[in-house]
Amino acid sequence: MIVIEHCAVSTVDGAGTEHADGHVAVEGDRIVAVGPGPYEGAPDATRVDGTGCLATPGLVNTHHHLYQSATRGYAQQEILFGWLKELYPVWARIDAGTVHAAATAGLAKLALSGCTTSTDHHYVFPRDGGDVLAAEIEAAAAVGLRFHPCRGSMDLSVKDGGLPPDSVVEDTDAALAATKDAIDRFHDPSPGAMVRIAVAPCSPFSVTPRLMREAADLARSEGVRLHTHLAETVEEEAYCREVHGCTPVDYAESLGWLGDDVWLAHAVHLDPGAIAKLGATGTGVAHCPSSNGRLGAGIAPVRDLLDARVPVGLGVDGAASQEAGQLGPELRQALYLARLRGGPAALTARESLALGTIGGARCLGRADELGSLEAGKLADVALWRLDGIGHAGIDDPVAALVFGPPAPLRLLLVGGRVVVQDGALSTVDEAMAAAALARAARKLREAR
Ligand SMILES: [Zn+2]
Repeated sequence: MIVIEHCAVSTVDGAGTEHADGHVAVEGDRIVAVGPGPYEGAPDATRVDGTGCLATPGLVNTHHHLYQSATRGYAQQEILFGWLKELYPVWARIDAGTVHAAATAGLAKLALSGCTTSTDHHYVFPRDGGDVLAAEIEAAAAVGLRFHPCRGSMDLSVKDGGLPPDSVVEDTDAALAATKDAIDRFHDPSPGAMVRIAVAPCSPFSVTPRLMREAADLARSEGVRLHTHLAETVEEEAYCREVHGCTPVDYAESLGWLGDDVWLAHAVHLDPGAIAKLGATGTGVAHCPSSNGRLGAGIAPVRDLLDARVPVGLGVDGAASQEAGQLGPELRQALYLARLRGGPAALTARESLALGTIGGARCLGRADELGSLEAGKLADVALWRLDGIGHAGIDDPVAALVFGPPAPLRLLLVGGRVVVQDGALSTVDEAMAAAALARAARKLREAR
């Protein structure tokens, strides 16, 4: 047992329960008690003095491309399409070694910023690149994060009217077969699972309608979730109108891609009808505020999505369009963007924390197990230090976490296992991960 006590607690449960001085008790991989004051009993438990700290649910990252950690700093002034065209040929050279190094570093960075569950959207599978999906799953196990890799795919290249070159797309049937194989090999539907697979064709301008439809059929027959990019940029909307004669959300609807088993990355450019459709169908959104800023894509209508009861989570997005790769600071970034769009009442600090926790758990279909601190849920807990110069004196700990600078972690638990302690990883060596990432990035750059 691990007992965290003498800390502020923000449970992010349905009632918004908070304790100015409380405890979280963990046994095995589950939370057994959350409440005010110290935890009575369990004299043999490992006790963590959380004085000066805030306990929250571990953050849930709903969109990423971990391999991109090895391709940071490219195409610095480009919009999405220009950025992709510069990067596709670089990505064509990745292999399992690249992905292992990039995923280890990317997941380590996420853990150090309070993330306990991450998804990944991997859609580049070079023919002689080895088993890249296995490589990132191995990396997640080493870092110790709960992991939802999405088996992505692209089958629409330039010669067929798409954006990517032939070198990075797959044959449609081969992509579907490999996706089925990924589910068979790695998907764990059991309670408390550390690895779950989702099915994730990449985007409207890189995937054929047939692959979208058949991927949805496959996911639903296998009981796994669906993920894709949608409505990220004005150029994507123009593409959909020209090629399909409708908006991206109407296109997704025509393919069977709206539903409570689907979550969409970005959803920036939405008309009121599209927002209503997402709300009515329970389709989730992975909001990626820093990536949208880096690419100048626009500001997602998060307030309107929440008012329409759309499940909204936060995503860091791939590190090639968001070099920082940390999830904690996205709480503040989401709040800032919502307020730039809708004024200072558009999103509260607590709503922002809810996006990063229970909102993300809803996107991944795991709100029954993750995203809030409640007895019976999985013991994924972040304990943030708020007594340093960055936060000291801010009376409201949730405001300190969201408005303040990135908070150091006193402790990060994933399923009750210590992954970060006193600001350092307990699982992998950070300096070795950085060195491996630098080698992988240099190799890709020099092969140009
Ligand atoms: Zn993305």
